[in-house]
Amino acid sequence: MNTLHLDSEIQYVKGVGPKRGALLRARGIHTVQDLLLRFPRRYEDRSRLASLDTLVTGQTATLLAKVYSVRLISTRSRGGILDVVLTDGVTYGHAKWFNGGSLYRQKKFVPGMALVLTGKGEVDKYDQGIVLFNPEFEVLPEGEPTAPDGLGRYVPIYEEVSGISSRQLRSIVLAAFGSLSDTLEDPLPVEMRSRYSLPGLRTSLEALHQPTLDDDIDLLNRRRSPYHRRFIFEEFLLLELTLALRRHHLRSTVGVRFRTNPHIRERIKEILPFHPTAAQKRVFAEIVDDLRASHPMNRLLQGDVGSGKTLVAFETIVVAVENGYQAAMMAPTEILAEQHYISARRILEPLGYKVALLRKGVGKDQPDLLAELRGGRIHLAIGTHALLEDAAAFSRLGLVVIDEQHRFGVMQRLRLMEKGQSPNTLVMTATPIPRTLAMTFYGDLDVSVIDEMPPGRTPIRTVHIGEGRRGYAEKLLKQELEKGRQCYVVYPLIEESEKIDLRSATEGYGQLADIFGSERVGLLHGRLKGEEKEAIMRAFNAGDIGILVSTTVVEVGVDVPNATLMLIEHAERFGMAQLHQLRGRVGRGTEASHCVLMTPDRIGGVARERVRAVAATTDGFRLAETDLRLRGPGELAGTRQSGLPEFLLADLVEDVDILVEARGEAERWVRDAPRRDKLIADLGRRAGASSLATVG
Ligand code: ADP
Ligand code: MG
Repeated sequence: MNTLHLDSEIQYVKGVGPKRGALLRARGIHTVQDLLLRFPRRYEDRSRLASLDTLVTGQTATLLAKVYSVRLISTRSRGGILDVVLTDGVTYGHAKWFNGGSLYRQKKFVPGMALVLTGKGEVDKYDQGIVLFNPEFEVLPEGEPTAPDGLGRYVPIYEEVSGISSRQLRSIVLAAFGSLSDTLEDPLPVEMRSRYSLPGLRTSLEALHQPTLDDDIDLLNRRRSPYHRRFIFEEFLLLELTLALRRHHLRSTVGVRFRTNPHIRERIKEILPFHPTAAQKRVFAEIVDDLRASHPMNRLLQGDVGSGKTLVAFETIVVAVENGYQAAMMAPTEILAEQHYISARRILEPLGYKVALLRKGVGKDQPDLLAELRGGRIHLAIGTHALLEDAAAFSRLGLVVIDEQHRFGVMQRLRLMEKGQSPNTLVMTATPIPRTLAMTFYGDLDVSVIDEMPPGRTPIRTVHIGEGRRGYAEKLLKQELEKGRQCYVVYPLIEESEKIDLRSATEGYGQLADIFGSERVGLLHGRLKGEEKEAIMRAFNAGDIGILVSTTVVEVGVDVPNATLMLIEHAERFGMAQLHQLRGRVGRGTEASHCVLMTPDRIGGVARERVRAVAATTDGFRLAETDLRLRGPGELAGTRQSGLPEFLLADLVEDVDILVEARGEAERWVRDAPRRDKLIADLGRRAGASSLATVG
């Protein structure tokens, strides 16, 4: 009788009962659906079983054999080696488990017992014949093999659940299918499934749990079968629908609306120090479309370090001010805020705009400034988190610009936005996430990309060298200084730490001052006071200092075109995105620039891969992809707060093609409210108890 549904409780499945039911529930498996959404970890080919005498060394195979004898070989390290002698009646071989003591004590293996083993055959150095080290195994029941053992088939292997073995789970799943209703409602509409050739729900569930010999076991094991694809699509679709809905709501909110006219365009032209690149023009046009629309702008401006985002921000600020509004520009560090302040005064003051820099503790120290801000007499306020202080109030805030968004949380963005009434918002980031991912990471934002560098840049030559070749770095420093150029030397720490043997910035500064003279070397670090930092930055800007030794405070936004050498000490301590950002401080003028990544002579494998990858390309987007591969998307800078769900099957990097399809589909459905809401509800129900995508 096919009486079970996906939402039937788990203990009604034959063979579960109250005891196993409790065990399963304890692990979040409450319903038949929860059970069936726990997909197999891998698939084993038991259609062509190998035998002990045909086993080829070096190849992974699945074989059927009986236990002949069992013994524990004691070793000096804990655990011992469990040695099980296997036989098919004629040939003998070994299976050995390191740390096999507990398997031995549990008496997992008894002479005469039938086993299916999967592993790689190797020549046994100690005993004769062939050995499998730490093979996966399954004990077959006595007598004739039964269906769940799947001899002659592709067999799914499950992760154990509170002591319920893969084999037991297989028979539970089998029983569940045996009484599962024939008509399962598929949350994916037929038209959508046919558009992307996605198999139906029931078909997919069955194929994933009980593949036939017609299925491609390789695709199954690589999570690439059409059935996997279907569920991955489902997970992405729910996520993308939620995001599309959020954007849809934002678009229907009424916000500050700007107009543009020839006069404003003329004023913008007046201030531009150079011709915008085609990419800058394109993204500015996208921004203007947003500004003129009735809904507030919520746009992410993505562009590699040095691509010229600031200029686009200034153009946008002109539109806001010419429309009678105030603008706020928030940067993550004092130095960057100061840098923007200097550029803004240079570029915007000729238009008669009043620009102010808000510092930490602005409430106490700069009361007059705040009064002017409140009174609307300041057109542009630039600052760090100081802008978020309650004391910083605007009279007509119409535009919020946030630089280096990855340094701020979503809450901080919203907090600044609340100082106006649905102001237009432009957030800028140089974190080079592949565009498709950016659309998901920053889900409620529209995305514009500057994918072109201003003209006249010469590529930066990057080298990775070990401490042993420090002389080479010093030679480069000398060379650049002699040409009248300037250099950065960056350290990961500010003072010698007792525990970690790092050359600190202070010590490095001392050495460089000895070599080049203290008047030509400056030291910048986080513990200096605001004014001290500014004085040093100003001196470096003016070219009075040749070498700027610093901790990562220069990481973002500093802009000195005459600087042509970036020397990064202990490069292995930095992330790839950070190294790339740091490198972006040079190569801003027409002179050839260098970046030296210095590490100890011996460093670990992944660290070396990271450093080498940065040395190998200056393409931030390519680096981001490598970074993602090495670290996984959850770790990507600034994405931890992104609120992305944990996926059951989907992988934001590997399955990006499916993500793009799902996103397109979400855009298509979002305007059709009744069908959209039903789809979200259906997908959500499927996601409900399991960990399928849910966005808060
Ligand atoms: P980022 O995108 O990293 O914030 P910036 O806005 O700081 O980049 O610009 C990097 C440098 O390029 C600055 O010195 C800026 O003046 C210069 N720049 C920006 N746009 C152009 C352009 N269209 N032509 C020439 N130089 C430009
Ligand atoms: Mg910038």
